[in-house]
Amino acid sequence: MAQRLVDHDIHVHTVLSACCADPESVPEKILARAAETGLKTIGFSDHMWDSAVPGASEWYRPQDFAHLCEIRRQLPKETHGVRVLVGCESEYVGGGRAGITPEVGRQLDFVLLPISHVHMKGFVIPEGMHRSEDLAAVMVQRFKEVLELGLATGIAHPFLPVGHCDRADEIISCISDTAFMDCFGRAAELGVSIEVTCGFFPGCGEGEKPGHHDQTFLRMLTLARQAGCVFHFASDAHSLDRIGDVFCLEPYAQQAGITRQDICPLVRND
Ligand SMILES: [Zn+2]
Ligand SMILES: [Zn+2]
Repeated sequence: MAQRLVDHDIHVHTVLSACCADPESVPEKILARAAETGLKTIGFSDHMWDSAVPGASEWYRPQDFAHLCEIRRQLPKETHGVRVLVGCESEYVGGGRAGITPEVGRQLDFVLLPISHVHMKGFVIPEGMHRSEDLAAVMVQRFKEVLELGLATGIAHPFLPVGHCDRADEIISCISDTAFMDCFGRAAELGVSIEVTCGFFPGCGEGEKPGHHDQTFLRMLTLARQAGCVFHFASDAHSLDRIGDVFCLEPYAQQAGITRQDICPLVRND
């Protein structure tokens, strides 16, 4: 058996995120559960759009940097030996516009930027955009753009078409190997980490679906690895019972050929 890769989860939401409906998702309980399951590092990454950046959507507006910082007061003294990182999942809406400034980024341990919140119609993508090839194209373009901002430690759930995962196979098939290598080659040059998230693999949860098979993102991750990217693991948990789910990613990462050396230095732990 190859050396275990998954020992961290740096995409975890708490009750500070508007989409988290579980009152138990607080740092104290998350860290206790992380320790129980054997995780060495937890990264909190609540949604955040910094109020210094104009143009927040109504949903993002209350979730500003001051709101995010409330987590620092909630961190327990006892972390059960789990290393704690405080970051955020901000937003990228195209045209060079991200919901975070470099000043705020420097005050956090890490910054995740998504390029695929394509469910946020009229904000992240235009209202009428729904064709698979258009969604694929916009994600490719956004991925390349966001890298150049120099704000992201990692890309949250790259190319996972949120809200359209029932046709993930079709959408991702619109992206050629060459286009992926172009994207991931640049991410590798810049050292921007590629997230390996439970959402990529329906086999992690309820099983493969007619429009979403494990092979789709296995192909993508294999290309990212061949391009020389670094990676981190993520549950994108929005409830306490999802802490520990990240371990289901181990066989997929191994199949993609990811090794210990390919893990993002922030969470490599050696
Ligand atoms: Zn997200
Ligand atoms: Zn998230």
